[in-house]
Amino acid sequence: MKYYLLLSLFYLLHPLTSHAWGFFGHRQINRMAVFTLPPEMIGFYKYYIVYITENATNPDNRRYVVEGEAPRHFIDADVYDKYYGGKGQAILQLPRYWKQAVERFSEDTLMAYGIVPWHIEKMKRQLVQAFKIRDSKAILRISTDLAHYIADANVPLHTTENYNGQLSNQNGIHGFWESRLPELFAKEYNFFVGQAQLIDNTQLYAWEAVIQAHAALDSVLHYEKELTQKFGEKKYAFEQRNGQTIRTYSRDFSTAYHKILAGQVERQMRKAIKMVGDLWYTAWIEAGSPEIFTLTNEETLKKEIEDTEEEKKQWQQAPLIPGRPHETTSQECCCNDENILQKYQAYYLKRKEENNE
Ligand SMILES: [Zn+2]
Repeated sequence: MKYYLLLSLFYLLHPLTSHAWGFFGHRQINRMAVFTLPPEMIGFYKYYIVYITENATNPDNRRYVVEGEAPRHFIDADVYDKYYGGKGQAILQLPRYWKQAVERFSEDTLMAYGIVPWHIEKMKRQLVQAFKIRDSKAILRISTDLAHYIADANVPLHTTENYNGQLSNQNGIHGFWESRLPELFAKEYNFFVGQAQLIDNTQLYAWEAVIQAHAALDSVLHYEKELTQKFGEKKYAFEQRNGQTIRTYSRDFSTAYHKILAGQVERQMRKAIKMVGDLWYTAWIEAGSPEIFTLTNEETLKKEIEDTEEEKKQWQQAPLIPGRPHETTSQECCCNDENILQKYQAYYLKRKEENNE
């Protein structure tokens, strides 16, 4: 079990930062998806479950350093409402397939406002190829990353331009919903979602997920606003974390929000887990159900951990690309990295101007 030691060492060396769905949420989704798989697949995925779990937030770690990474995590569907007859219409009518979407809006525009449903389909196709050639490293990497994007697609605030409540005076709501609530209440959640199923059209399935997430958006924003008025100053409290005092959403406020949302966060996490399992399984079936358990070996895993670690070092050293600071909006309610914040503000203003033209 040398690789467990290696893994522990790597993650001790890496300070924990906050992410979309939080570390906890993404890891939980990746991990629990393994248990939806049929016997022919579960051996492989269980063998690599620590890797799949621990690397669940890699796409967030590289989003400011890898060109083109940031838009894969979201879609600002409401930006397009003006082309489709008003509020809530775009998500129902946007071109479902990448080629048609590019023809209608241009790749630049799509990249500016997020591509998550199309990217899920692209990665699923890559996973089919990886299964076909029985490339264990590719299966492992693509499965882990695909699970991340699926998880993001199921977060209501990943489907709107107002992704952190910044347009409705609710700054910080992103991390509150997807990090603070699961951290406090996940012990009450049920993560067993049943067996993975074969999906006829995975591209449309990805759209169903974002449509459903978008439909939940009104209650996400509305109830937070309502409770803010009720709680006044008691909305926030100070907590000790890693030797630092941070301002965060108070437990009472969090509990009230959790109750009023009536299981919404749990539902979205469960949907994400099921969808990850469904897409892994569907890709495997589409590849002709190859035998994969004999692909497992300690050398592959060790090498993969080392390579991933090397990449993570490069992500930390690389210059930053302006993007949306989803993962800087956790329970602390503010961005700690001035550099990212400044770059983002400039980027956001530019986008706003473009949008008003
Ligand atoms: Zn993400």
